[in-house]
Amino acid sequence: MFHSVQFPLFSPVFEAICAHLDDATLAAMCLSGSKKAAASAMREAEKRPVFALVHSAVTMKEKKKHWIFEEVCETGSLWGVRFLWKSGIGTGNSGLPVACKCGWSEVAEFLIAKGANNYNRALVAACKHGRADMAALMVSKGADDFNAGMLYACNGGSRTLAEMMIRLGANDWNGGLWQACRGGSREVAEFMIECGADNFDWGLDGACGNGHCGTAELMLQHGASDFDQGLCEAAQWGHINTALMMISCGATALNEAHWEACTEGFEKMCELLVAHGATMCGDGECVAHDFPE
Ligand SMILES: [Zn+2]
Repeated sequence: MFHSVQFPLFSPVFEAICAHLDDATLAAMCLSGSKKAAASAMREAEKRPVFALVHSAVTMKEKKKHWIFEEVCETGSLWGVRFLWKSGIGTGNSGLPVACKCGWSEVAEFLIAKGANNYNRALVAACKHGRADMAALMVSKGADDFNAGMLYACNGGSRTLAEMMIRLGANDWNGGLWQACRGGSREVAEFMIECGADNFDWGLDGACGNGHCGTAELMLQHGASDFDQGLCEAAQWGHINTALMMISCGATALNEAHWEACTEGFEKMCELLVAHGATMCGDGECVAHDFPE
Protein backbone atom coordinates (compact mmCIF):
# COMPACT_ATOMS: atom_id res chain seq x y z
CA MET A 1 0.00 0.00 0.00
CA PHE A 2 1.32 3.41 -0.86
CA HIS A 3 0.61 4.91 2.54
CA SER A 4 3.43 2.86 4.05
CA VAL A 5 6.06 4.69 1.99
CA GLN A 6 8.45 6.78 4.10
CA PHE A 7 8.75 10.52 3.45
CA PRO A 8 12.50 11.10 4.02
CA LEU A 9 13.09 9.75 0.54
CA PHE A 10 11.43 12.83 -0.94
CA SER A 11 13.37 14.60 -3.69
CA PRO A 12 12.52 18.08 -5.06
CA VAL A 13 13.22 16.95 -8.61
CA PHE A 14 10.85 14.01 -8.38
CA GLU A 15 8.20 16.14 -6.75
CA ALA A 16 8.40 18.71 -9.54
CA ILE A 17 7.87 15.91 -12.05
CA CYS A 18 5.01 14.46 -10.04
CA ALA A 19 3.19 17.79 -9.96
CA HIS A 20 2.65 17.45 -13.72
CA LEU A 21 1.34 13.91 -13.69
CA ASP A 22 -2.30 12.97 -13.81
CA ASP A 23 -3.84 11.12 -10.89
CA ALA A 24 -3.75 7.67 -12.49
CA THR A 25 -0.04 7.91 -13.32
CA LEU A 26 0.67 9.27 -9.88
CA ALA A 27 -1.21 6.35 -8.34
CA ALA A 28 0.93 3.94 -10.38
CA MET A 29 4.07 5.66 -9.06
CA CYS A 30 2.83 5.53 -5.48
CA LEU A 31 2.50 1.80 -5.91
CA SER A 32 5.80 1.41 -7.77
CA GLY A 33 8.76 -0.60 -6.54
CA SER A 34 11.04 2.45 -6.41
CA LYS A 35 10.89 3.88 -2.93
CA LYS A 36 12.24 7.23 -4.03
CA ALA A 37 9.70 7.67 -6.82
CA ALA A 38 6.88 6.45 -4.58
CA ALA A 39 7.78 8.87 -1.78
CA SER A 40 7.79 11.87 -4.11
CA ALA A 41 4.57 10.78 -5.75
CA MET A 42 2.96 10.37 -2.33
CA ARG A 43 4.03 13.86 -1.30
CA GLU A 44 2.36 15.33 -4.38
CA ALA A 45 -0.64 13.05 -3.90
CA GLU A 46 -1.29 14.51 -0.46
CA LYS A 47 -2.16 17.82 -2.12
CA ARG A 48 -4.86 16.20 -4.23
CA PRO A 49 -8.28 15.66 -2.70
CA VAL A 50 -9.02 12.25 -4.20
CA PHE A 51 -5.74 10.85 -2.93
CA ALA A 52 -6.49 12.19 0.52
CA LEU A 53 -9.81 10.32 0.44
CA VAL A 54 -8.33 7.10 -0.89
CA HIS A 55 -5.54 7.30 1.63
CA SER A 56 -7.93 7.73 4.52
CA ALA A 57 -10.11 4.86 3.24
CA VAL A 58 -7.15 2.51 3.16
CA THR A 59 -6.00 3.44 6.66
CA MET A 60 -9.32 3.92 8.41
CA LYS A 61 -11.52 1.55 10.40
CA GLU A 62 -13.64 -1.01 8.59
CA LYS A 63 -17.02 0.61 9.11
CA LYS A 64 -16.11 4.04 7.79
CA LYS A 65 -14.33 2.74 4.70
CA HIS A 66 -17.57 2.33 2.84
CA TRP A 67 -18.58 5.95 3.39
CA ILE A 68 -15.28 6.97 1.88
CA PHE A 69 -15.93 4.71 -1.08
CA GLU A 70 -19.08 6.69 -1.81
CA GLU A 71 -17.17 9.94 -1.45
CA VAL A 72 -14.60 8.75 -3.97
CA CYS A 73 -17.43 7.75 -6.32
CA GLU A 74 -18.72 11.29 -5.90
CA THR A 75 -15.42 12.76 -7.12
CA GLY A 76 -15.73 10.77 -10.36
CA SER A 77 -12.18 9.49 -10.06
CA LEU A 78 -12.13 6.19 -11.89
CA TRP A 79 -8.66 5.30 -10.70
CA GLY A 80 -9.72 6.07 -7.11
CA VAL A 81 -12.77 3.81 -7.40
CA ARG A 82 -10.68 1.06 -9.04
CA PHE A 83 -8.01 1.36 -6.38
CA LEU A 84 -10.48 0.99 -3.52
CA TRP A 85 -12.28 -1.83 -5.32
CA LYS A 86 -8.97 -3.71 -5.63
CA SER A 87 -8.41 -3.14 -1.91
CA GLY A 88 -11.78 -4.74 -1.19
CA ILE A 89 -13.47 -1.50 -0.14
CA GLY A 90 -16.98 -0.56 -1.24
CA THR A 91 -19.83 -2.27 -3.04
CA GLY A 92 -21.18 -1.58 -6.50
CA ASN A 93 -24.68 -0.93 -5.25
CA SER A 94 -23.55 1.72 -2.76
CA GLY A 95 -21.54 3.51 -5.44
CA LEU A 96 -23.90 3.38 -8.43
CA PRO A 97 -26.55 5.85 -7.17
CA VAL A 98 -23.77 8.24 -6.18
CA ALA A 99 -22.14 8.03 -9.61
CA CYS A 100 -25.54 8.62 -11.24
CA LYS A 101 -26.35 11.58 -8.99
CA CYS A 102 -23.08 13.23 -10.00
CA GLY A 103 -23.12 12.29 -13.69
CA TRP A 104 -20.04 10.06 -13.77
CA SER A 105 -20.80 7.55 -16.52
CA GLU A 106 -17.35 5.88 -16.51
CA VAL A 107 -17.61 5.16 -12.79
CA ALA A 108 -21.17 3.90 -13.26
CA GLU A 109 -20.11 1.57 -16.07
CA PHE A 110 -17.21 0.26 -13.98
CA LEU A 111 -19.50 -0.49 -11.03
CA ILE A 112 -22.07 -2.19 -13.26
CA ALA A 113 -19.30 -4.34 -14.77
CA LYS A 114 -18.44 -5.32 -11.18
CA GLY A 115 -22.00 -6.38 -10.45
CA ALA A 116 -23.93 -3.27 -9.40
CA ASN A 117 -27.57 -3.73 -10.40
CA ASN A 118 -29.73 -1.39 -8.30
CA TYR A 119 -30.79 0.47 -11.43
CA ASN A 120 -34.04 1.89 -10.05
CA ARG A 121 -32.29 3.37 -7.02
CA ALA A 122 -29.71 4.86 -9.38
CA LEU A 123 -32.46 6.13 -11.71
CA VAL A 124 -34.14 8.18 -8.97
CA ALA A 125 -30.76 9.59 -7.92
CA ALA A 126 -30.16 10.71 -11.52
CA CYS A 127 -33.69 12.16 -11.82
CA LYS A 128 -33.46 14.04 -8.54
CA HIS A 129 -30.27 15.75 -9.72
CA GLY A 130 -31.31 16.48 -13.28
CA ARG A 131 -28.88 14.03 -14.91
CA ALA A 132 -30.67 13.08 -18.12
CA ASP A 133 -27.74 11.12 -19.57
CA MET A 134 -27.40 9.01 -16.45
CA ALA A 135 -31.15 8.42 -16.26
CA ALA A 136 -31.09 7.22 -19.87
CA LEU A 137 -28.16 4.94 -19.08
CA MET A 138 -30.03 3.37 -16.15
CA VAL A 139 -33.14 2.86 -18.30
CA SER A 140 -30.97 1.17 -20.96
CA LYS A 141 -29.68 -1.20 -18.24
CA GLY A 142 -33.15 -2.13 -17.08
CA ALA A 143 -34.48 0.52 -14.68
CA ASP A 144 -38.26 0.57 -14.98
CA ASP A 145 -39.72 2.47 -12.00
CA PHE A 146 -40.67 5.49 -14.09
CA ASN A 147 -43.18 6.91 -11.62
CA ALA A 148 -40.51 6.98 -8.91
CA GLY A 149 -38.17 8.62 -11.41
CA MET A 150 -40.80 11.26 -12.20
CA LEU A 151 -41.45 11.97 -8.52
CA TYR A 152 -37.76 12.55 -7.87
CA ALA A 153 -37.45 14.66 -11.00
CA CYS A 154 -40.37 16.81 -9.78
CA ASN A 155 -38.77 17.14 -6.36
CA GLY A 156 -35.47 18.14 -7.94
CA GLY A 157 -37.23 20.66 -10.19
CA SER A 158 -36.30 19.07 -13.52
CA ARG A 159 -39.04 19.33 -16.11
CA THR A 160 -36.78 17.64 -18.69
CA LEU A 161 -36.40 14.53 -16.54
CA ALA A 162 -40.10 14.52 -15.62
CA GLU A 163 -40.93 14.62 -19.34
CA MET A 164 -38.53 11.76 -20.03
CA MET A 165 -40.20 9.61 -17.35
CA ILE A 166 -43.67 10.47 -18.69
CA ARG A 167 -42.65 9.37 -22.20
CA LEU A 168 -41.66 6.05 -20.63
CA GLY A 169 -45.02 5.68 -18.87
CA ALA A 170 -45.05 7.67 -15.63
CA ASN A 171 -48.45 9.12 -14.76
CA ASP A 172 -48.64 9.85 -11.00
CA TRP A 173 -49.63 13.48 -11.50
CA ASN A 174 -50.73 14.28 -7.95
CA GLY A 175 -47.65 12.62 -6.50
CA GLY A 176 -45.58 14.70 -8.90
CA LEU A 177 -47.42 17.86 -7.88
CA TRP A 178 -46.79 17.17 -4.20
CA GLN A 179 -43.08 16.57 -4.89
CA ALA A 180 -42.75 19.69 -7.03
CA CYS A 181 -44.39 21.72 -4.26
CA ARG A 182 -42.07 20.14 -1.69
CA GLY A 183 -39.07 20.90 -3.86
CA GLY A 184 -40.29 24.45 -4.46
CA SER A 185 -40.39 24.30 -8.27
CA ARG A 186 -43.30 26.38 -9.49
CA GLU A 187 -42.49 25.54 -13.11
CA VAL A 188 -42.69 21.78 -12.53
CA ALA A 189 -45.78 22.14 -10.32
CA GLU A 190 -47.51 24.01 -13.18
CA PHE A 191 -46.41 21.27 -15.57
CA MET A 192 -47.98 18.58 -13.35
CA ILE A 193 -51.23 20.57 -13.29
CA GLU A 194 -51.16 20.72 -17.11
CA CYS A 195 -50.72 16.93 -17.10
CA GLY A 196 -53.79 16.45 -14.89
CA ALA A 197 -52.85 16.93 -11.22
CA ASP A 198 -55.74 18.34 -9.23
CA ASN A 199 -55.06 17.62 -5.55
CA PHE A 200 -54.14 21.17 -4.65
CA ASP A 201 -54.62 20.74 -0.89
CA TRP A 202 -52.03 17.98 -0.93
CA GLY A 203 -49.72 20.25 -2.91
CA LEU A 204 -50.27 23.02 -0.35
CA ASP A 205 -49.36 20.59 2.40
CA GLY A 206 -46.07 19.76 0.61
CA ALA A 207 -45.22 23.40 -0.04
CA CYS A 208 -45.94 24.47 3.56
CA GLY A 209 -43.99 21.55 5.02
CA ASN A 210 -40.84 22.65 3.19
CA GLY A 211 -41.34 26.40 3.53
CA HIS A 212 -41.91 27.19 -0.16
CA CYS A 213 -44.16 30.24 -0.50
CA GLY A 214 -43.98 30.19 -4.31
CA THR A 215 -45.55 26.78 -4.76
CA ALA A 216 -47.92 27.38 -1.80
CA GLU A 217 -49.17 30.51 -3.59
CA LEU A 218 -49.69 28.53 -6.81
CA MET A 219 -51.81 25.99 -4.90
CA LEU A 220 -53.91 28.83 -3.41
CA GLN A 221 -54.44 30.25 -6.90
CA HIS A 222 -55.80 26.86 -7.94
CA GLY A 223 -58.24 26.75 -5.05
CA ALA A 224 -56.39 24.94 -2.24
CA SER A 225 -58.25 25.69 0.99
CA ASP A 226 -56.96 23.35 3.71
CA PHE A 227 -55.11 26.13 5.52
CA ASP A 228 -55.18 24.29 8.87
CA GLN A 229 -53.30 21.30 7.47
CA GLY A 230 -50.85 23.68 5.78
CA LEU A 231 -50.30 25.51 9.07
CA CYS A 232 -49.69 22.28 10.99
CA GLU A 233 -47.17 21.13 8.36
CA ALA A 234 -45.38 24.47 8.49
CA ALA A 235 -45.32 24.37 12.31
CA GLN A 236 -44.05 20.80 12.42
CA TRP A 237 -41.04 21.65 10.28
CA GLY A 238 -40.45 25.13 11.67
CA HIS A 239 -41.20 27.20 8.57
CA ILE A 240 -42.27 30.66 9.72
CA ASN A 241 -42.90 31.99 6.20
CA THR A 242 -45.50 29.42 5.18
CA ALA A 243 -47.02 29.41 8.70
CA LEU A 244 -47.63 33.16 8.45
CA MET A 245 -49.07 32.67 4.98
CA MET A 246 -51.58 30.10 6.26
CA ILE A 247 -52.56 32.32 9.21
CA SER A 248 -53.16 35.23 6.86
CA CYS A 249 -55.33 32.91 4.72
CA GLY A 250 -57.50 32.19 7.76
CA ALA A 251 -56.05 29.04 9.36
CA THR A 252 -57.53 28.51 12.81
CA ALA A 253 -55.78 25.32 14.01
CA LEU A 254 -53.40 27.34 16.18
CA ASN A 255 -53.39 24.94 19.13
CA GLU A 256 -52.78 21.89 16.94
CA ALA A 257 -49.97 23.72 15.16
CA HIS A 258 -48.56 24.86 18.49
CA TRP A 259 -48.54 21.28 19.71
CA GLU A 260 -46.41 20.34 16.67
CA ALA A 261 -44.07 23.28 17.20
CA CYS A 262 -43.62 22.64 20.94
CA THR A 263 -42.96 18.95 20.35
CA GLU A 264 -40.28 19.78 17.80
CA GLY A 265 -38.83 22.57 19.93
CA PHE A 266 -39.24 25.45 17.47
CA GLU A 267 -39.06 28.51 19.74
CA LYS A 268 -39.87 31.20 17.21
CA MET A 269 -42.79 29.18 15.87
CA CYS A 270 -44.18 28.83 19.40
CA GLU A 271 -43.93 32.58 19.91
CA LEU A 272 -45.57 33.26 16.57
CA LEU A 273 -48.49 30.91 17.24
CA VAL A 274 -49.04 32.24 20.77
CA ALA A 275 -48.95 35.80 19.42
CA HIS A 276 -51.73 34.77 17.03
CA GLY A 277 -53.88 33.19 19.72
CA ALA A 278 -52.67 29.65 20.53
CA THR A 279 -53.65 28.81 24.10
CA MET A 280 -52.33 25.29 24.70
CA CYS A 281 -48.93 23.63 24.83
CA GLY A 282 -47.71 20.35 23.42
CA ASP A 283 -45.54 17.72 25.07
CA GLY A 284 -42.31 19.65 24.78
CA GLU A 285 -41.18 22.43 27.06
CA CYS A 286 -42.71 25.51 25.58
CA VAL A 287 -40.35 28.43 25.52
CA ALA A 288 -43.03 30.92 24.62
CA HIS A 289 -44.94 30.79 27.92
CA ASP A 290 -46.36 28.57 30.60
CA PHE A 291 -49.99 27.59 30.14
CA PRO A 292 -51.85 26.17 33.13
CA GLU A 293 -52.78 22.45 32.89
ZN1 LIG B 1 -44.95 26.26 22.49
